[in-house]
Amino acid sequence: MSGTFRLTLFTLALFGLFAAFLYNSPYAHFPEMPSPPSPQITAIVVGSGLAGLSAASQLIAKDVPVRMLERGAKPGGNSIKASSGINAAPTRYQPTLDDAFFSDTVKSAGKAMLFSTPQRESLISILTKSSKDAIEWLVQEKGVDMSKVSIMGGHTFSRTHRGAGQTPPGFAITSTLLHSLKTSPLFHLQTSCTVTKVLHSEHRVTGVEYTGEDGNIRKLLGPVIFASGGFGGDAEGLLAQYRPDLAGYPSTNEPRPGTQPLLTAVGAQLIDMEYVQVHPTGFVDPAAPSSPLKFLAAEVLRGDGGILLLNGKRFIDELETRDIVTSAITATPPEHALPKQWSVQLVLDQGVYEAARSHVDFYIFKGLMKKITISELASGALESISRYSRVVRGEEADTFGRTRFAQWKLREPTPDSVVYVGTVTPVVHFTMGGVVINERAEVLKKDDEGVIEGLWAAGEVTGGVHGANRLGGSSLLECVVFGRTAGDRCVDYIKDHRHEL
Ligand SMILES: Cc1cc2nc3c(=O)[nH]c(=O)nc-3n(C[C@H](O)[C@H](O)[C@H](O)COP(=O)(O)OP(=O)(O)OC[C@H]3O[C@@H](n4cnc5c(N)ncnc54)[C@H](O)[C@@H]3O)c2cc1C
Repeated sequence: MSGTFRLTLFTLALFGLFAAFLYNSPYAHFPEMPSPPSPQITAIVVGSGLAGLSAASQLIAKDVPVRMLERGAKPGGNSIKASSGINAAPTRYQPTLDDAFFSDTVKSAGKAMLFSTPQRESLISILTKSSKDAIEWLVQEKGVDMSKVSIMGGHTFSRTHRGAGQTPPGFAITSTLLHSLKTSPLFHLQTSCTVTKVLHSEHRVTGVEYTGEDGNIRKLLGPVIFASGGFGGDAEGLLAQYRPDLAGYPSTNEPRPGTQPLLTAVGAQLIDMEYVQVHPTGFVDPAAPSSPLKFLAAEVLRGDGGILLLNGKRFIDELETRDIVTSAITATPPEHALPKQWSVQLVLDQGVYEAARSHVDFYIFKGLMKKITISELASGALESISRYSRVVRGEEADTFGRTRFAQWKLREPTPDSVVYVGTVTPVVHFTMGGVVINERAEVLKKDDEGVIEGLWAAGEVTGGVHGANRLGGSSLLECVVFGRTAGDRCVDYIKDHRHEL
């Protein structure tokens, strides 16, 4: 044999060995994009909302390359819209020893706590106990201002954090994390691409298939973290399937299909899909009253002391949980059939306005609220507001049981007293249900057959932690807590299985 021939044979043998290695690799089905047998295994994060950004931050911090795939043209998902804040206690800004966070969450979860109780309690315990670390991470490590704390419906104590300035918390947090990620050469974000399939071998998830901006279908290989959000905007699909009674309701979420079916296709278990949070206060925009997409009236407006009037009368303790406030509204006949909507006035006095000024000025700018006098409200409003002011002054008990009035300062209302008002209606807002995860953010198989290897999920795509009703401020928290957990566990997985991947 000539030397050249021997060299050729040797090269072919080497190539054969490499091909055999690839063939035995779990990512072997897609030779068009082989995973290099190097330590640089790339983690795939589906969705660029807070859960995805939190997961990616942990991966990047531990030098694992990340490919983030995002369906939208811009990153941020619903997380960027979050307007009230993120729950945590105790924190440097909320030093009260707050054991009630766990019990408030359990109480709010309601009837769902009757089944899968230990698993739910375990997730809730992690959520609430990790909240301090979550805020510390955002404040200390990432430099996000979280110094203002307020109370929202269903909470025993003030524990919802946001910044003291004008920037809404969702934008402040997501833009900071994204900015920090973009400084790493290991981070790669691809927008306008939709993940359509989860790929798997016999034993584990091996990657995803996605449609890019050019319409071409591509495969990407690596362990996968799903952070693709809820299905509140999937009116014709999952929402119609699990809650046909909510057909016709407007929503705060962009119309888009839910992603849970991509995960059930690889054996994921679902929970609580029928529990859909209808937020009591989505703005009815006077310029587009019939639009199915509504802008949320931040809960903090009620938390800071605002009241709700239906036909000029109060009808509920405004600090009740969302489901209770919503039920009180929807027990009355709707004003419009399609979209199905009511006409409730959200009313703030000057004191509440001052406290929530950054929100209200923005709503006024958007034409969703206006500054008027009480005489311009529905008849009966003056009497209702006068009675509320007497309750605030401590002269009589509230018929509806409200005991906290925050910044309401109006003592002697007259027809000329200034108020800030917007029309609101219940809107589909948040889906409590989704894929079941454990404490390690691993996705559980149906029939309790263990976890799906190589797959994690965090944020609104998951279910179980909020039960039948989520407390305001706890969604951003779950994104940070379980998003970071998913990132950390994915790092461990890559380390432990490096030789197999
Ligand atoms: C107006 C509004 C205000 C809110 N205010 C608060 C608040 O103050 N406090 C609070 O705790 N919660 C709040 N929430 C709820 C909270 O914002 C969301 O539940 C949370 O941000 C969800 O985060 P996420 O990362 O799970 O999903 P998202 O932020 O929705 O991100 C998911 C991303 O995945 C992308 N995606 C989906 N499917 C695919 C696919 N197949 N392929 C690729 N990409 C995909 C989506 O385009 C999206 O960008 C609010 C929600 C809304 C709508």
